[in-house]
Amino acid sequence: MAATKFEGWLGKDEKSVEGKMEWGSFEPKKWSEDDVDIEISHCGVCGSDLHVLKSGWSPTPYPCVVGHEIIGKAVKVGSNVKHVKEGDRVGVGAQARSCLQKDCPDCSTGAENHCRRANVNTYGSVYPNDEGKSYGGYATHNRTNGHFVLPIPEGLDSADAAPMLCGGITVFSPLKQNGCGPGKTVGIVGVGGLGHFGVLFAKALEADKVVGISRKAEKRDEVLQLGADQYIATDEDEDWAKKNAQTLDLIVCTVSSEKMPLDQYLQLLKTKGTFIQVGAPDGGKLPNINAFTLIASGIKVGGSAIGTPKEISEMLEIAAEKKVKPWIQKRPMKDANKTVVDMEAGKARYRYVLEN
Ligand code: NAP
Ligand code: ZN
Repeated sequence: MAATKFEGWLGKDEKSVEGKMEWGSFEPKKWSEDDVDIEISHCGVCGSDLHVLKSGWSPTPYPCVVGHEIIGKAVKVGSNVKHVKEGDRVGVGAQARSCLQKDCPDCSTGAENHCRRANVNTYGSVYPNDEGKSYGGYATHNRTNGHFVLPIPEGLDSADAAPMLCGGITVFSPLKQNGCGPGKTVGIVGVGGLGHFGVLFAKALEADKVVGISRKAEKRDEVLQLGADQYIATDEDEDWAKKNAQTLDLIVCTVSSEKMPLDQYLQLLKTKGTFIQVGAPDGGKLPNINAFTLIASGIKVGGSAIGTPKEISEMLEIAAEKKVKPWIQKRPMKDANKTVVDMEAGKARYRYVLEN
């Protein structure tokens, strides 16, 4: 068999986010028998792709191929990988490797997503020991450590499953871990790609009431159609924080702006409620929090990072069983530049999925 040729949309500098990625070939990480090569059929477009293309979080090691919501066919499977065989339909999310050592406090306790020793992102990471760089899914092929390559259950469409691998799991994990279920009222702030999954999965987990919270009233009908029981438009609904004060047990926030009305979001929590931030602003800054908002209601503020391979598999099973249907817009892979520009302009309803 001829060697696989890896080609994809290369971001070469900060301007690539303006629709200036260039198609070209790239050298994947050095092959190891722990790896799987995937022929990509679909890749979702995540808000994180934009942050990394423009070096918003930290300097990106250009050239960089973004995309970490990858579905495709395993075309080469390392001999140490036992749960995948050639020809299987598989997926890769935002993480490509961790140390997986028995003495790692994170990997040994099923928290690979928090591994501090050898965490490798699906794109934009440099592997240790001259193994090369990680390249993502706006491409023909991807190479990832088998531990992070997951079989996709039959009942799920590939284009629907792709954005679950990052967008879906990033909200599913904190919902699940913070008790989303019968008897709970849950708010999802920022109904974009992640946020729309927040509404879908909070419903699938059978929360009593799910409230979508975004800026504009124009999303109201769509968010209610998604399954939300209520919608709050923070730019337009008068006195929204006062009127809905102390109504939610749990909030998951996907907004990544330093200017978000954080203190008002927190006022929506009931006594002892929990607020989990997953949106990741450029530079990492959040607005100030008033200490008395925390103290008076005894609330907790936390964060969450994607999810583990085990959690992703569990989410995919629930999605298949409960027929969770994301709202996606498919675009041909050749239109990746236009898609990134539209995503940046907030036009996605609610997730673009690139298709080869
Ligand atoms: P997205 O589709 O653009 O959704 C973000 C939503 O936030 C928008 O739809 C927007 O909805 C809302 N928003 C509210 N205030 C905003 C403001 N001032 N500026 C911009 N948007 C505002 O993006 P996404 O793919 O869901 O990603 C959201 C964030 O999560 C990104 O920062 C991404 O990097 C991060 N992320 C984190 C993790 C993790 O592990 N923690 C994983 C994946 C992604 P309205 O216009 O309706 O207000
Ligand atoms: Zn993502």
